[in-house]
Amino acid sequence: MLVIGLTGGIGTGKTEVSRILQAMGATVINADQVGHEAYTPHSEAWEAVVKAFGKGIVQESGEIDRRKLGGIVFADPERLAVLNGIMHPRMAAIVLEKLQSLDEGGVIVAVVEAAVLFEAGWDSLVDEVWTTESPEDFVVSRLQERNGFAPEEIRKRIASQMSSSERSNRATEVVNNSGELADLERTVRAIWKRRVEGRIEQ
Ligand code: ATP
Repeated sequence: MLVIGLTGGIGTGKTEVSRILQAMGATVINADQVGHEAYTPHSEAWEAVVKAFGKGIVQESGEIDRRKLGGIVFADPERLAVLNGIMHPRMAAIVLEKLQSLDEGGVIVAVVEAAVLFEAGWDSLVDEVWTTESPEDFVVSRLQERNGFAPEEIRKRIASQMSSSERSNRATEVVNNSGELADLERTVRAIWKRRVEGRIEQ
C-alpha cells in the first residue's frame, strides 16, 4: 500500500484535494476525525486531557468541550504544547492502526490528511508528503466566505502555523491551488499520474 501524507496551511485546499483523491480511488484518513475518536469519553487521551486541564473542560454529556479547550490552548503556546504532547502520540497510534487495517483490507493508496503532519512528526508514518499551497489573499477571502472569520483573525492564524515555504521544502510534492477548483483537479490528476500510477500498476 502506498501511503501519502497530505498537509497544508489553513484553508489552502486539503479537504478539496482529499475529495479529488478519494474520487480517484484513494482511501482518506482525516486527522480531525482521529482527534475526535481519541477524545472518546474515558479513553486514555480523555483521562490525560481532563487531568491536565481540569474538569471545567468537560461538558455534561461527558465530552470534552473542544471549543473551550481551544480557547485555552490557542492563547498559550505552553498549554498547547502540553495538549499536543498528550494527543499527538495517541492520534499517531490510531492512524497506524487504521493504516494497518486498510492494508489488510487490500487498499492500494491511502492518504493521511493532517494540517499538523510535520509538527506532529507524522511524516514518518507515510511514504511521501504532498502539501497544498494557495496565495494568502485567496485563503483569506475563501475563509471569510466559508467561516465568516475576520481577515485579521485569519492572517493571525496563518502566521501562527508553520510557514508554507518550510512545508514546501519538506514535502515531496507541492499541490498548487491558486486557480479554480477545476484547475486544482487537473493539478492533482497530473501529480497522481506522475507519482502514483506507475507504482500501483500490478
Ligand atoms: P482547513 O485547514 O480550514 O480545514 P483546508 O485546507 O481543508 O482548510 P478546504 O476546506 O479544502 O481547505 O478549502 C477552504 C475553502 O475554500 C472551502 O470552502 C473550499 O471549498 C474552498 N476552495 C478551496 N480551493 C478552492 C478553489 N481552487 N476555488 C474555489 N474555492 C476553493
